[in-house]
Amino acid sequence: MVEIQVHHELLQTGKIKNVICPNCKNRENLEYRVYGGISRILIVPTAPLRRLTKVFCNSCQKEFKLKELSDDIKQAVKYERSKNPIKTPIWQFTGIIILLSILFFGIYTGIEMTKLEKEYIKLPLKNDIYKTNIKGKYSTLKVYKVTKDSVYILLNKFSLDSYKGLEEINIEENYSEIKVLSKRELQKLYDENLIYEVNRE
Ligand SMILES: [Zn+2]
Repeated sequence: MVEIQVHHELLQTGKIKNVICPNCKNRENLEYRVYGGISRILIVPTAPLRRLTKVFCNSCQKEFKLKELSDDIKQAVKYERSKNPIKTPIWQFTGIIILLSILFFGIYTGIEMTKLEKEYIKLPLKNDIYKTNIKGKYSTLKVYKVTKDSVYILLNKFSLDSYKGLEEINIEENYSEIKVLSKRELQKLYDENLIYEVNRE
């Protein structure tokens, strides 16, 4: 399991002018405190945490949550904070940026692969390898010869219950029987996903 570390810290503090502490009724001794921080996954900063604002009274040492306070005080805090807004540096999003990059790279590569495979199926070449999944039985086919309308396919005499290990049965001596397919039939096998991957050296 990858652990997410959360680290809170005091980001900013400042005086709030002309407000009265709801606890000790002292004036001019309130300050706001903004807490924040970042979450990290494996030390990579992933995202900034939600900011939390609290109000502290220096006379009675009581800390208040913002929602416990009157609108007057909330407004005053808002006003003070607006004078000195806290910026979120972009590096705090490093993890999210990395994850998104990996995701988009994966999608992009997938799209490019699919484009290539479509071309390979349209214009087969000798020694193209097709991975097949027919009702849960995995196997490979190998293109032996291509004519104008037909494809001569070598059938693999072995099949597996999983896609793992297909590389190991993809060896010369397993291909003995030949079947002739029209290019249209080949296209159909690909469209129906019975041929689910095309490899070309
Ligand atoms: Zn107080």
